[in-house]
Amino acid sequence: MTRVTVKNELNVYESAEARFEAAAQKLGLENGLYRYLKYPDKEITVYIPVGMDDGRLEVFVGYRVQHSLVRGPGKGGIRYAPDVSLDEIRALAAWMTWKCAVVNIPFGGAKGGIICDPAKLSQGELERITRRYTAELMDWLGPERDVPAPDLGTNEQVMAWVMDTYSMHMRRTTTAVVTGKPLDLGGSRGRREATGRGCMIVCDRALARLGLKREGCRVIVQGFGNVGSMAALLMHQAGYRIVGVADVHGGLYNEKGFEIPALIDWVHIKRKPLPEFPGGGEKMSPQEILFQPCDILLPAAVENQLTSQNAHRVQARILCEGANGPTTAPADEILEEKGVFVIPDILANAGGVTVSYFEWVQDRQGFFWRESEVNERLQDVMEHAFDEVVRYSETHKVNNRIAAYMLGIDRVAYALKLRGIYA
Ligand code: GLU
Repeated sequence: MTRVTVKNELNVYESAEARFEAAAQKLGLENGLYRYLKYPDKEITVYIPVGMDDGRLEVFVGYRVQHSLVRGPGKGGIRYAPDVSLDEIRALAAWMTWKCAVVNIPFGGAKGGIICDPAKLSQGELERITRRYTAELMDWLGPERDVPAPDLGTNEQVMAWVMDTYSMHMRRTTTAVVTGKPLDLGGSRGRREATGRGCMIVCDRALARLGLKREGCRVIVQGFGNVGSMAALLMHQAGYRIVGVADVHGGLYNEKGFEIPALIDWVHIKRKPLPEFPGGGEKMSPQEILFQPCDILLPAAVENQLTSQNAHRVQARILCEGANGPTTAPADEILEEKGVFVIPDILANAGGVTVSYFEWVQDRQGFFWRESEVNERLQDVMEHAFDEVVRYSETHKVNNRIAAYMLGIDRVAYALKLRGIYA
């Protein structure tokens, strides 16, 4: 059993640090490297003045944290949410470093965020916030410096504004400065589905290990944004039975399974509340859905969903973390004791950043791939990473999460040793 200690369970930075520490210790990481990798390279805070639609001048606070640029340019999303904090962005940036190393793509880790509520902002306000944030970060962004992407509260349109603002400053169209763009602006086929598809690929792999089958395998998906809805759709099409779904408005459970294309139409096209879906099911809170009977639990919403207070109630055989940080560090131990097969976030949701890498490559090549090529390459990368994490866990006798951290840290530390410290 790998023990970790934290003071404040719900501080994601502490959770990330506790796992880093446990993994570094198991690896026998030397002290200097430990200190180097524990802290981010850079933390940038920007104050973003924005003229609001009603004529007021508002100032928003934004961050970009570059955790590590050892293996390549920074990579990681930009999050728009009211509860964004520097600690959260720090944790998410470090997770990006380990995530990119786990799937072995040539990027470091970074993350950005702006404290705002996108649901309460007009398109014009969102555009002005995005453009000014990008302009303030001009010196740190770039295809060879730091490459943002979508995350909670941001989408293809926001990425198009980032690309345009950067390009206007550079006096040339630079599509590779950001990924997750619209297809017509240098986006990649398959990027929108990539995180959900990656989740399915690692679930397939886990089923094979446990001697289980896709057909009839019961899945609960918490969160119905890009990751949750795409994972649900692809898994539904592949023969999994999606018995539980939830978004911020509430959850629905139905042992018979949901017709996911109809649910996507209801929520994303008709813009109706998920719990009112006519397909039926027992209504409950978005938290309660996590504890219903299923084979695979796929949290794809926000952080800190499974904690020391509730992890014992999980009924799933497999936990596939579509979200970043849905499980707190103390909850890991409970899940391990229960024998839940955990596919940790830095592996499970790495499909998104993997296809972001493909997008960056295609932009730089100026040559775009077929969707089947993207999906095939994604499958290769995810299966390989899954197998390596499991191998690490067996060799070092640690749980899958610590194994994934060990694999990531080991790769970054090795690159750092080869590069040396510039003085
Ligand atoms: N925001 C996503 C993540 O957390 C994608 C990052 C990217 O594609 O750079 O992995």
